[in-house]
Amino acid sequence: MHTDATTLPNGAVIEGDLCIVGAGASGITIARELNNSRLKVILLEGGGFDFDQKMQDLYRGEIVGQPYFPLQAAALHYFGGTTNHWAGWCATYEPIDFEKRDWVPHSGWPITRADLDPYYTRAAPILDIVPNKWDAAQWKNGDSERVPLISDSKLMWTKMWQFSPPTRMGQKYRAEIVNSPNVHLYTNANVVEVEANESVSAVQSVRIRGFDGKEYRARAKRFVLCCHSIQNARLLLASNRQAKAGLGNDNDVVGRYFMEHFEMPCAELALTRPESTGTKLYEFVKLGGTPRGEIAVTPAAQREQRILHGTCSLEAGNYGDPVLSTFQFLDTATMNQQRAWEKAGRKGEPPSTKPSEPPRTKGAPRFYHLSTRQEQAPNPDSRVSLSAEKDALGMPRAKLDWRVTDLDKHSMRTFYHLLGREMGRTDTGRVQIRDWLLSDDKTWPSFISGGWHHMGTLRMGTDPKQSVTDPNCRVHGISNLYIGGAAVYPTAGAVNPTLTLVALSLRLADHLKAST
Ligand SMILES: Cc1cc2nc3c(=O)[nH]c(=O)nc-3n(C[C@H](O)[C@H](O)[C@H](O)COP(=O)(O)OP(=O)(O)OC[C@H]3O[C@@H](n4cnc5c(N)ncnc54)[C@H](O)[C@@H]3O)c2cc1C
Repeated sequence: MHTDATTLPNGAVIEGDLCIVGAGASGITIARELNNSRLKVILLEGGGFDFDQKMQDLYRGEIVGQPYFPLQAAALHYFGGTTNHWAGWCATYEPIDFEKRDWVPHSGWPITRADLDPYYTRAAPILDIVPNKWDAAQWKNGDSERVPLISDSKLMWTKMWQFSPPTRMGQKYRAEIVNSPNVHLYTNANVVEVEANESVSAVQSVRIRGFDGKEYRARAKRFVLCCHSIQNARLLLASNRQAKAGLGNDNDVVGRYFMEHFEMPCAELALTRPESTGTKLYEFVKLGGTPRGEIAVTPAAQREQRILHGTCSLEAGNYGDPVLSTFQFLDTATMNQQRAWEKAGRKGEPPSTKPSEPPRTKGAPRFYHLSTRQEQAPNPDSRVSLSAEKDALGMPRAKLDWRVTDLDKHSMRTFYHLLGREMGRTDTGRVQIRDWLLSDDKTWPSFISGGWHHMGTLRMGTDPKQSVTDPNCRVHGISNLYIGGAAVYPTAGAVNPTLTLVALSLRLADHLKAST
């Protein structure tokens, strides 16, 4: 069933058993799991079925601290959510990502990788990738050149990625949701407040507001917020009529521990024997195409070096490129452009004017650009709070204070030292690390690029003083309020978050079914 909420009369009340707020990767996954069940499910989506600039502007926010992408460009506000423009890169988190690591303050999930394994299996087909096929050996495809660059290393290994077409969840699952007998989708239904009972121990309703000023309510026995990490935190913080600091925020944890993945070109690799060194396993073919590997730091090396989890991708440069020119090409052009952009008083990232590289004409490439993908350390000061500015619906906008720590920077630098060591030891090649990465903080680019991945803000844990949600994603102290999505991640892992958040959403749906 589907209703455009703008057709409802002012003051309308919608009733159901379960109310899901937000129809993106997480909300659609949970709604589909409950399709054809005996639960009456209300699915509230702020946007319509298509992009609308006015709706998207509700995501605009303030950036303080580390420069970041404009918030209204970093997530999408309509049916299907940010999967309407995600890139579809999928990989699993590793067991170490869930562990408490004494060198990573605030690390440790209350669940393990083994707890998520069955859900990874179920999540894969939802995103149109192959389940349980994550070893390099499984993707050899009968090609003797598809082998790891460095084998049997104590420091480095090859982690595999699969590529979703990418699945646009709003398009792919729209008919199933709209035709469901028990899931009722309301579009243009922006939730502006979560309303609790007098003792603030349970949610009674959510308040929905339209651009025309009309207001509606949805009442249910249980609620799940699936609005993405920044918007989920914003909604709880803005729901501050009964609880001054916001719902679920008795211990001032809501909005904290915001995390991204660092995604930056950091080094160059020159192969010793390009003609006989197989790099096919690392080639990116196309979205939806053959999986590829990235070089990752092993759990043993993370423990020994006391660093965060990171990987790097290989992008072929030109045949005969001297390393220096590759350096100049990337460093000088990009960094000068960034400096000029900032000098002119502009914020964010300048539009790319990078010349495209001439096509490679002969032979195997000797040079590869190495790009980092790394988790960042959870940090309570890296946070989402409320801005003084309000949006068109009267809701305070989000304010993002993204912080980068010394451990983040140290880990990135150490990764390339280890990689260089391994490439040299095995005589596979030589690694040239960018100057800024080798030197002190002041020379780092002012714009440190994230991967457009928002994690943390409502972290999962067993101690309400240190976390917002319990291991079942329920908000501590509020009996019927749950969180879907990467907001609950206590740590970020090295790889992109969506496969894991779909797996967690399936787990949450199972919990909701079992506890009905
Ligand atoms: C450019 C880009 C590329 C990306 N590429 C990848 C990738 O390759 N691999 C990967 O793993 N991840 C990628 N991501 C991240 C991925 O898109 C997100 O992890 C994922 O979509 C998050 O799912 P979600 O359900 O939590 O949020 P979303 O998918 O954003 O869904 C949230 C939904 O909630 C709705 N909503 C928000 N607020 C309200 C409200 N107040 N009331 C009602 N509804 C509301 C929104 O309209 C939206 O439909 C990328 C992101 C971007 C921006």
